[in-house]
Amino acid sequence: MINSLTLEQLQRRFGGELVNGSVEFAQVSTNTRKLDPQSLFVALVGENFDAHDFVGELDGQVLGLVVDRAVRGCSLPQWRVEDTTVALGQIGLVCREQFNGLVVAITGSCGKTTIKEMLSAIFSQTHKPCVTKGNLNNQFGLPMTLFGISAQHNVLILEMGANGPDDISYLCNIGKPHVSAVNNVMPAHVEGFGSVDAIAKAKGQIYAGLDVAGTAVVNADDNYADYWLKNMPEGVKTLAVGLSNECGIHADNIVLNENGCASFELVVEGVAHPVNLQLLGEHNVHNALVAAGCAFAAGVSAAEITKGLNQVTGVAGRLQQLPGIAGATVIDDSYNANPGSVGAAIELLSQRSGKKILVLGDMAELGPDAEEMHRSVGALARERGLDALFTFGPLGAAASIAFSAGRQESLRNYRARESLVAAITQQLDKETTVLVKGSRSARMELVAQALLGNS
Ligand code: ATP
Ligand code: UDP
Ligand code: MG
Repeated sequence: MINSLTLEQLQRRFGGELVNGSVEFAQVSTNTRKLDPQSLFVALVGENFDAHDFVGELDGQVLGLVVDRAVRGCSLPQWRVEDTTVALGQIGLVCREQFNGLVVAITGSCGKTTIKEMLSAIFSQTHKPCVTKGNLNNQFGLPMTLFGISAQHNVLILEMGANGPDDISYLCNIGKPHVSAVNNVMPAHVEGFGSVDAIAKAKGQIYAGLDVAGTAVVNADDNYADYWLKNMPEGVKTLAVGLSNECGIHADNIVLNENGCASFELVVEGVAHPVNLQLLGEHNVHNALVAAGCAFAAGVSAAEITKGLNQVTGVAGRLQQLPGIAGATVIDDSYNANPGSVGAAIELLSQRSGKKILVLGDMAELGPDAEEMHRSVGALARERGLDALFTFGPLGAAASIAFSAGRQESLRNYRARESLVAAITQQLDKETTVLVKGSRSARMELVAQALLGNS
């Protein structure tokens, strides 16, 4: 944080109660397994643990506590509140208010982290950006990023994720962006929303969260672009990006090289700038357009944008091409999956030469249409000419059946990771590319590691 805070300051502004007096702090921690003695400890209640169970032992180990109940026998200064997660956000908000630089926020169903990395590369040339670490994009991660703002930073780049209808609005009230974008809407995390329309509406809150001098970067290629433009708050400027030359920023002459990386011309105000991405897949052209729109709205020149985009190398677990066992090429895309990102992966794989194998762990959180979505993905893999589909998990059976399309071939649907790896291994040789993907819960990184010879 830029300036230290006190518990008294927080209690006066947000309410709650002070116990054992106030204390000044400049750091926040939430995990007793990684304590910082100079920090305020916020006791969060999570799915696995309630950190209040550990705070009794923190006397002398931190400066003070934020808790939602009395802690017996503890002499640490405490701010007692109703909900410690909300308090974490309130501390984040105060840190955000200390910052005078420009704030860019990105949401969308997929590509957020990739765009955040693109923006980080673009801004790092001329600015000192403070950027969301890893994937810390929710009600816990966003405040953590805000605690990390220091006096040297002059731009803030925030990834915002949503699992429910009001999440983006909550995050915008804390992050207060000046430039924001919805990258896309796809059926991801449908369970928390009910429908794809509801996802588009929830993501659109990022535009409602802009102040009047803000700029909304709109992906004109997304089905919901018109919906967002129609519902744009009054006074907010808009910048459309996309493939059409009617967009303020657009891409022309897209070519995929033999590795699957895209080259294109980034056309900004009628001037074409050549971009050679080091990232696999044509979908990264769309991500690059949204990143370019955000950077341009923030005042970065087209030349700097182009240079930054050219520098971005892969993000771990997102379509990373690596040498695998038996001379095969492994594309590790194990970080996550939804029907949209699986579609992008199938397109990419279908353009490779040699034998093409997709290994797909179950896509989670898809709601009642989950089986149908797995079937569609299996059918797409067949249609695009992939040579084999290995699936992992019960939903994968539907994908495997659709892939076999009634042919007499064995269904490669597995429930044990070891047998899956053994079966894939038999198929590998120098001519083969194997792409590994699945939802976080499927832990497909373990499969990718095995195929890379790391286990
Ligand atoms: P999360 O919601 O998990 O934070 P994210 O939005 O940050 O995800 P990334 O981590 O950048 O997204 O990418 C996740 C997956 O989506 C990767 O497999 C990546 O290849 C794929 N992907 C990225 N951008 C796109 C896109 N524009 N269209 C389709 N798939 C994409
Ligand atoms: N926590 C902690 N010490 C522990 C275990 C958990 O401080 O030994 C904290 C953790 O950092 C988080 C909260 O308790 O802030 C809730 O934990 P969660 O259910 O999210 O489990 P985790 O995924 O952190 O293991
Ligand atoms: Mg992410």
